[in-house]
Amino acid sequence: MSDQKFFANIERFIGNTTPHLDLTDGLAERITQCNSTYAVRFGVKLRGRIYSFEGWRSVHSEHIEPAKGGIRYAPDATMDEVEALAALMSLKCALVNVPFGGSKGALQINPSDWTEDELERITRRFTQELARRDLIHPGRNVPAPDMGTGEREMAWIADEYRKTGRADAINVSACVTGKPVARGGIEGRVEATGRGVQYAVRAYLAHPDMPAVSGQKQIRGLSVVVQGFGNVGYHSAKFLAEDGARIVGIVEHDVAIFDPKGLDIEAVAAHRRATGSIGGFAGAETVPSAEGLTHMAADILIPAAKEAAITEGNCNEIDYQLIVEAANGPVTAAAEEVLGARGIRILPDLFVNAGGVVVSYFEWVKNITHIPFGLMERRQQIATGMSMVSALEQMSGRSMTDDLRASIARDTQEIDLVRSGLEEIMTRAFGEIAAQHARMPQVNLRTAAYAVSIARIADYYRAIGL
Ligand code: GLU
Repeated sequence: MSDQKFFANIERFIGNTTPHLDLTDGLAERITQCNSTYAVRFGVKLRGRIYSFEGWRSVHSEHIEPAKGGIRYAPDATMDEVEALAALMSLKCALVNVPFGGSKGALQINPSDWTEDELERITRRFTQELARRDLIHPGRNVPAPDMGTGEREMAWIADEYRKTGRADAINVSACVTGKPVARGGIEGRVEATGRGVQYAVRAYLAHPDMPAVSGQKQIRGLSVVVQGFGNVGYHSAKFLAEDGARIVGIVEHDVAIFDPKGLDIEAVAAHRRATGSIGGFAGAETVPSAEGLTHMAADILIPAAKEAAITEGNCNEIDYQLIVEAANGPVTAAAEEVLGARGIRILPDLFVNAGGVVVSYFEWVKNITHIPFGLMERRQQIATGMSMVSALEQMSGRSMTDDLRASIARDTQEIDLVRSGLEEIMTRAFGEIAAQHARMPQVNLRTAAYAVSIARIADYYRAIGL
C-alpha cells in the first residue's frame, strides 16, 4: 500500500468523525482499537512433507455477540489488514443495525497453489485452531466467506466445527454463514453483496438531497467501470446492467477490457470460464491491468477488488463522478481528500457492501431459530389470502376456481423475502446517512456514515456503563 497502512486509514476515517460527536473521553480510542487478534501458525502434512501456514482472527468489538466477519484466503494477507477489516465489520454492522460485533480472519495462502483435497485439509485444520479459542462459535464468533473463500470452505468449516462438539447440537449450524443452501445456508447469500451494491446505488440516486450523476437520478444509461470480477464485482455488474447501466469496462488483476457500447456481463463470464481470463473478449479492447482505472472516463467506478486500489499515486488520473466502494477500503484516506477537492463523490464501503453481512444475519437467524426463513410471514399471507377468497365467495355466491385458490396460497419464496428484506435495510441505512449528512453538510458521506455507526456503538458502550 503506498499511503500508510490499512488500519491507519480506518483510524484516520474515525478521527475525521469523532470531533463531530459528543463522546466520553477515551471512548473514541476504545471504539477504534481491536479488542484482540489471534495469530496462529500450524503445519499440515501434504505432498510428503509438512507445510506451515499462518493465519489470524481478529475481534474488533464484542459490544454485541457474536462478532461477525469473513475469512479471507490471500497470499499477501497481513495482520494489519485483518484488523482493519475487523474494524470495518463493527462499523458496517452498526450502520445497518444488524446485532453483531466485528471480526475478521485471514489465512496467508494462494488457493490456486493447492488442490481441492489439500485446501479442505488446510481449512479443516485452521477451523480446529480457531474453534479451540471460540473464534468460531454460534454465539461468540461467526465467520463467513470473503476473498478467496466461498460456500465450499464454509461447508468444510461447519462440518469440522460440528465434530469438535464445542457447541450445542441445536445451534451448531449457526457457527458460520455463507453455507450452501443444502447445508443450512440461505437463498441469495452468494449474490447478496452485489444485490446490496445495486440497492445502494438506487437509494443514493433516488434520494432528493443527493446530486444527480451526469444529470441523472436513475441508473439507466449511466456508464460504469467495475474493478474486480470476483463474486462481488460480477454480481454488482450484472445487477446494475439489469437496471440499465452500461458496463463499459472491467478491470481485472491480469488485464482490463473496454467497450463504450457496453459489455454483456454473462458473455464475459462465459469467456473467462472458457479461457481463464477476461482478456481477448470479442468486440472489446484489451489493455494492461495497470492502465485499467485510468483508461476511460465513466460516470461511476465500482472498485470491487482489494483495499488501496485508489491511492495518492493514481487518484489524480481517474475520471469518474461517483465511486461506489463495493470492496472494503478501496480508497485511501489521502486519496479521498484529493478526490473530494475534485468534486468526486464516494459512496462508502461500510454502507455499499453491507449486503453480505445483512443476508448472513438472515441465515444465522434461520439457523438458531430453526424456522425456515419467512415461514411466519408466509403463514400470515396465506391466511389473509384465504379469508379474502371466502369473503368473495360469500358475496358472489360462487366458489372460486382451484387455480385462483392455489395462486393466492402460493408460497412466497425465500429468495423474495431475502431480497425485499435486504432492500429495505439498505434503503433505510442510506436514509440515516443522508439525514446525518444534512446535519453536518460540510463533511463527506463516509464521515456521515461513520457518525451514524460510531454513535450507535457508543450508545451500547454507554449502556454497559463505559
Ligand atoms: N466478508 C463479507 C464482508 O466483508 C461478509 C461478512 C459476513 O457475512 O459476515 O462484509
